[in-house]
Amino acid sequence: MDLSYILNELGEERSEYFNAVAPPIVQTSNFRVNKVEELKKLFADEYSGYLYSRGLNPTVDILRKKLAALDQAEDCLVFNSGAAAIFVAVLANVNAGDHIISVENPYSWVKRMFDLIFQRFGVETTYIAGTEIEQFEKAERPNSRFIYLESPNSWSFAIQDMEKVAAFAKRRKLITLMDNSYCTPLYQRPIPMGIDISMQTATKYVGGHSDTLGGILTGSRQMIKKIFDCEYMAVGSGIQPFNAWLLIRGLRTLDTRLARITATTREVLSYLKTHPIVESVLFPLDKSFPQYELARKQMENAGGLISFFVKAGERKEIVRFCENLKHIMMAVSWGGHESLILPRCASVNDTDFDKDNKEHRMLRLYVGLESAEYLISDLDQSFRLSF
Ligand SMILES: *Cc1c(COP(=O)(O)O)cnc(C)c1O
Repeated sequence: MDLSYILNELGEERSEYFNAVAPPIVQTSNFRVNKVEELKKLFADEYSGYLYSRGLNPTVDILRKKLAALDQAEDCLVFNSGAAAIFVAVLANVNAGDHIISVENPYSWVKRMFDLIFQRFGVETTYIAGTEIEQFEKAERPNSRFIYLESPNSWSFAIQDMEKVAAFAKRRKLITLMDNSYCTPLYQRPIPMGIDISMQTATKYVGGHSDTLGGILTGSRQMIKKIFDCEYMAVGSGIQPFNAWLLIRGLRTLDTRLARITATTREVLSYLKTHPIVESVLFPLDKSFPQYELARKQMENAGGLISFFVKAGERKEIVRFCENLKHIMMAVSWGGHESLILPRCASVNDTDFDKDNKEHRMLRLYVGLESAEYLISDLDQSFRLSF
């Protein structure tokens, strides 16, 4: 399906709402039913029509159609946050006594979900680097049920070979979920590569303006309906119509924004690589990246995140660097219009700072929609003032 068609037309029946170009926000909790027979049908299968907005809603449906098409998936559900999407997907697919194989250092709240919540219900998780297929084979137990992937990781950009993991999982009858937030379906499509569930936080690139949270699951019709029928309805964390509308608006410019961000990121990366204070950079499509060949094989491109290591002798140099930036903001998240910086040493005490520990000297830059010159001059003035 043509990307322009998906972003501009798919799912939008404009003649049903006054030929308005922008879709309506159907801000309603419930829907009137005319016949008892209709009600009977909806009670038996809420996935068959509009009854109550914790289930289906017309504004959300427009978004679902577009997101499913972008992922080349049969169906899609949208949640109030990425964390909710992940929680519901795992909850729907594991039982007490099951075992999960997860990449190490998944998104921080995912690790807490596994260690603090699922653990309480007898579900154990084994963490592996995920860089070699043998690690998955070694971690497998007779009760393994679910494989949790995130490729690339949003700090280290560690990558898993999706086709190999998907083939292994299919042989062993394990369910796979891939957090595809870094790439979005524009740069990587897990479903055609054999992954069962593709997840994205819509808070990042899909929303794109740092003004709403959202989370996406796509997969087969059977998988998505199974999740809808029970956990999606029971947890009740589906996206609200207004937030869905913001995400539809975000999608209009997704490819334009990503193209701009990707181009600017290359310029900022070149600048960082030659700066004397920068020891090294991490970027999946840079030749120095340890999994460069695999990144090139399964990703069409790389977005706005760059991790880099500075030659700092003391924590306060990094603190100064972050605080002296005039335009690049210090904030969590990424994928919006605004460039952001995060230092790893934010969670390290001054006295515990170890200059020989590379992690302590790590920063993550997110490149937004500003111009490359604007960002480079900001970084440059802050390097000069801080080190
Ligand atoms: C932000 C993020 C999430 C969580 O999404 P929320 O919308 O914040 O709940 C999950 N995975 C990755 C890689 C993220 O960056």
